[in-house]
Parts: sequence; structure tokens; C-alpha cells
Amino acid sequence: MNLIIFGPPGAGKGTQSKFIVKKFNLFQLSTGDLLRNEIKNKSKVGVEIASIVNAGSLVSDEIVSKLIESVIIKKEYNNRIIFDGYPRNLSQAKNLNSILNKCNQKIDLVLKLSVSLEVIKKRISGRSVCSMCGKIYNLYFNPAPKNSECCSDKYLQKRGDDTADVAIKRYKTYEKSTEPVLEFYKKHDLLQIVNGETSIDQIYKEISQKIDLIQG
Ligand code: ADP
Repeated sequence: MNLIIFGPPGAGKGTQSKFIVKKFNLFQLSTGDLLRNEIKNKSKVGVEIASIVNAGSLVSDEIVSKLIESVIIKKEYNNRIIFDGYPRNLSQAKNLNSILNKCNQKIDLVLKLSVSLEVIKKRISGRSVCSMCGKIYNLYFNPAPKNSECCSDKYLQKRGDDTADVAIKRYKTYEKSTEPVLEFYKKHDLLQIVNGETSIDQIYKEISQKIDLIQG
């Protein structure tokens, strides 16, 4: 089973994907992480990506497609990918279909986490990630446990692009560019909308039920 999780930056895709990956033995393919990895490695393409991401814009379809394809073709990820942050536009969606087709796979479920801009601003400004284990926290809604060896203050990192201004820009860019993509998946009867403003547990339950249903 392959699935896609949609939602503007800060909607909770990463948070939910981590739980779902564990429960259903999936592999989370986050384009954000793929891109940030390139930036961290300071590859030639990484330097190019850094300036685009920090300006709140989108990286070219060509760069992202190449990175995505290199993951899909790996045997160990066959038919067990959760796409997080991809596809962002219609051309990427069609491209994803043809890459999956080539590999005798398909998308089985598309989830959209629906969250307002007001809520997103709070989530983004409080977000931090543990550099040791990758867990995602929020200063206001979901703080890291006190006295934890792993997720202590010295390991919690804020992303360079997590500012309110960039968040607003990314939200608008995201909602506008993904509208036709969601329409595309709706037409194929794959789209399910999830209220992303309830608690992390509640959203997790709802998503799990939807996956259980398609797994039969
Ligand atoms: P995305 O991957 O969509 O950008 P994240 O999973 O990183 O979003 O979540 C963004 C921030 O919001 C994080 O700080 C996370 O801890 C917090 N968060 C995620 N889901 C919820 C929720 N349902 N309620 C409150 N805060 C949440």
C-alpha cells in the first residue's frame, strides 16, 4: 500500500507519518527531509535548494522527481511508501503516477490534513525536532518530555525556515498549488479529508481507521 499525506507546512504530516509508519510498517518519504539532507550535505544541488527553500519558494519538479525516483525504485520500499510533502503540483502528481506505474505500483489512499492559517502560525513558531531520534515537538502543544536523555534541550533543533513570515508564504503557496492536485485525486476517488485541528491522538485514530478500511 502506498499513500500520500497532504496538508500545509505545519499541519502535522510529519508527526502523523511517524506513527503510521510504525503501525503499518511503511517508509516515510518526506521531500522536505530529502531536500534538507541535500542542503546539509552541501552538494551542488543542495546549495541551489537552500536559497529557494529559505525564500519560501518551491524547488523545481525536475530536482524533486529525480530524488523521489531514486527512493521508489529501491526494493525495500516496494509498495510501502507514505509520501509526505509530495506531489505539490499536478505535473508532479502525474509524474509520480508514471514512476509508480513503471514499478507496477499505485497510490491507494490520499489524506488531506485540513488546518487553518491561524493554527499553522502557532504550530510553526513552536516546532522543534530532536536531532538524535527525529521526534517532532511543539513548545506549546506537544513539549518534549523533561529529564529525557535523548530529547533534551541540547538536541532539540529549530528549522531555519520556521518563521511566521515564511510560514504564511508557504501556506498560501501550498494551498494554491495543491488545489488541482487534490481535485485530481478526488476524481480518482482516492481523497479523504481529515480535520487536522484536533489532538494528535484523535487524528492518529482517524487516519488509522481509514487505512484499516482500505487494507480490508
Ligand atoms: P508538517 O510535517 O506538516 O510540516 P509537523 O508534523 O512538523 O508538520 O507539525 C508541525 C508542528 O505542530 C510541530 O511542532 C508539531 O509538534 C505540532 N503538531 C502536529 N500535530 C499537532 C496537533 N494535532 N495539535 C497540536 N500540535 C500539533
